[in-house]
Amino acid sequence: MPGLKHEVLAPGVALMALKTPTLPPATTTNTLIVGRRRLALIEPASPHADEQANLEAYVQRERERGAQVVAILLTHHHRDHVGHVARLQELLGAPVMAHRATADRVSFRVDEIVEDGDLIALDEGHRIRARHTPGHAPGHLVFVEEKSGIIHVGDMLAGVGTILIDPGDGGDMGEYLGSLRLIRDELCADNTRLVPAHGPVIERARAACEALIEHRLRRESKVISGVGAEGRSFDDLLAIVYDDTPKQLWPLAAMSLEAHVAKLVADGRLTRVGGRVTPAS
Ligand SMILES: [Zn+2]
Repeated sequence: MPGLKHEVLAPGVALMALKTPTLPPATTTNTLIVGRRRLALIEPASPHADEQANLEAYVQRERERGAQVVAILLTHHHRDHVGHVARLQELLGAPVMAHRATADRVSFRVDEIVEDGDLIALDEGHRIRARHTPGHAPGHLVFVEEKSGIIHVGDMLAGVGTILIDPGDGGDMGEYLGSLRLIRDELCADNTRLVPAHGPVIERARAACEALIEHRLRRESKVISGVGAEGRSFDDLLAIVYDDTPKQLWPLAAMSLEAHVAKLVADGRLTRVGGRVTPAS
């Protein structure tokens, strides 16, 4: 369709990257439109009227040729992922579908609860399998488009910027690593392409998962060695573990460190005494 800012990733799978209030350096969130006559919208995220108009114009042209939106699918509850949902729900009368832990965290109505493994059947061989991938958010889902091998991975991987694990908002580093392994081991085939919520499509899917897991585990090793035999204050530990990170990012790094420490405490490797992090005895 000329004039509308979309990219066809595969027959029946179109991508629109639309501006959202997300975390810099990312500026947009990726929406997928899947199917031929029965369409699913994955992650309609933009709260901005001009960007919403782009997606709505696309959908309107599809409807004029007889297509119908039958599902609005959410990866998770964060505000840069749901900005267009309530308006489209009203406009299209299509059901909003999300995990229960997402439904509990949004201000609009979720019409259908999606569980791990649920299948959303579209047409012409297009169907979407939902998998529960907690860690970044408790209700996080990824959506596997089984015909094309394209997976919308939401905030499990980033095409630009980094994925934040914030324990203050339901983030859990142990679960996040488990979910990355699930994507790598169970969902990635040779033709798999990953559509992250932010940034360009990731072509080498398995390698990208692997690199991210290794990156987090290297940071984890740095936490263990930073704690040493005697333990450290949290702030001293932050300076040691994120010595490669610009200081203005340390408030965000502190969240990540919280997530790493919480995982290592849960794993029985560290303990917290007052303001100090020490080896578990
Ligand atoms: Zn998020």
